[in-house]
Amino acid sequence: MKKQPTARIWPRARGALTTALKSWPVAALVFLTGCASFARPPADLAHVRLELVDSPLVRVSKAWLERTDDQVVLRGHVLRRPETTDTTSTHLDISWFNRTGDWVKSTQTNFEPRQIRRRYRMPDSADFVLPLNALPSDTNVIIIRAHEGAHP
Ligand SMILES: [Zn+2]
Repeated sequence: MKKQPTARIWPRARGALTTALKSWPVAALVFLTGCASFARPPADLAHVRLELVDSPLVRVSKAWLERTDDQVVLRGHVLRRPETTDTTSTHLDISWFNRTGDWVKSTQTNFEPRQIRRRYRMPDSADFVLPLNALPSDTNVIIIRAHEGAHP
């Protein structure tokens, strides 16, 4: 008689497991589709390597190049570290390097929102978008570096 509650719970648990297994292919498909958009840069930019550099407060989690009409756009996400409370002093330094490894140019951009909030059941993330009017033709590496503080 003492085993009855367990016997009642088990079919329910098995039902939940079956449901989870049935929905797995859908989840996998969504995951793969989501990744595909990051994995396919425009063919003429496929050689450009993006290097992501974290700061003590923020992680640069993802970046990719997109071509919209005739413009190249650098997009990506940053994540707030769990122990970080204020991200408003952080910006992104973007630097270009050519095939021989020489510095070409640098610029700064911000992610939005500047203050990354804690979100329920979602990563604490913000987005950045930087239109690149003229990507130097011999660009080989773009470094996206999270940085706190001011510049001289
Ligand atoms: Zn900086």
